[in-house]
Amino acid sequence: MNKRKQKILVTGGAGYIGSHAIIELIDAEYDVISIDNFSNSTKDTFTRIKKITGVSVRNYVGDVADVALLERVFKKEKHIDGIIHFAALKSVPESVADPIRYYENNIGSLFSIISFAKKHNITQFVFSSSAAVYGDITKLPVNEKTPLAPPASPYGATKVMGEMMLRDIAHASPELKIAMLRYFNPIGAHTSGMLGELPLGAPANLAPIIIEAASSVRKNVTIFGNNYSTRDGTCIRDYIHVSDIARAHVDALRFLQKQKNCCEIFNLGSGKGVTVLELIQAFEKVTEIVVPVTIGKRRAGDMAAIYSDCRKAKKMLGWVPRFSIQEAMQSAWQWHLNLVSKKPSKRALK
Ligand code: UDP
Repeated sequence: MNKRKQKILVTGGAGYIGSHAIIELIDAEYDVISIDNFSNSTKDTFTRIKKITGVSVRNYVGDVADVALLERVFKKEKHIDGIIHFAALKSVPESVADPIRYYENNIGSLFSIISFAKKHNITQFVFSSSAAVYGDITKLPVNEKTPLAPPASPYGATKVMGEMMLRDIAHASPELKIAMLRYFNPIGAHTSGMLGELPLGAPANLAPIIIEAASSVRKNVTIFGNNYSTRDGTCIRDYIHVSDIARAHVDALRFLQKQKNCCEIFNLGSGKGVTVLELIQAFEKVTEIVVPVTIGKRRAGDMAAIYSDCRKAKKMLGWVPRFSIQEAMQSAWQWHLNLVSKKPSKRALK
């Protein structure tokens, strides 16, 4: 007799990490459904997922904060074993400019989805947290026990609050097993070259900006400050291939399934600090394309350096990153080439 597959609801399944996680979940034989309102993505993502995996993922279009929608999904699906909650707004500068929208969206949607999980006895819950919870920290690398400094942005604050909320809920409802994954800086694209980062507006993160400068969509990369006290004066981050981060969600679900009760935090990074210049050099090395750069002012809210200690994820989840930053940048470039070969960019040179 065939064993029933575990059914996982992914919120934000069309997003950058969500879509890569869906591929890993399908590979691991999960039955996946999604809720996404396409606020920063398009439905093409599900066509791409189908091309890669052969599976059509059912996506319910709408907002996770919409309780009536969640109930309709449950009625239709009949049972859900676990939830991975990706859906959230994620731009640091945008959150500084419009904090109400960030608190309303990120806290509101978490509140409705975790209430939904509790109501329907869904026992596995994975939350997308962020390295932004550490705030402007000086003791490196950071591990899950590192005391948090005040968050540098409303975005980071929504993740700190989300973790606090989930900790209290797990304490009061031990049957609800929770893993909170603190992502460092996801980069790269799926090895097929058919799926990658595709935000609707202009990118704000370094890796897609490098790609734009390499392909003359923009004149250059403006490096936000080269006078930090780091080895080359530019900021240090922990870049990690998006498929490595995605795979950790499968590991987290398998881990949760084995627990009686659980509320654990895991860092997901490479464990290596890389400067802005080093990431650009990694890209230049694998593609043999010179990226024009200019030095600009420091960006408000930037920390000088942060990178992870990921030993807990290795020990408890059996998770270790498989891709190097060179491989990640190469895959991002391949994704870009595949995209432009189909559709020339309409964005003007900036
Ligand atoms: N950065 C930069 N120029 C850009 C975008 C980013 O120099 O056009 C730097 C930024 O100051 C930071 C690093 O690249 O030190 C990573 O920035 P990103 O926005 O990708 O991630 P986050 O700051 O959220 O970690």
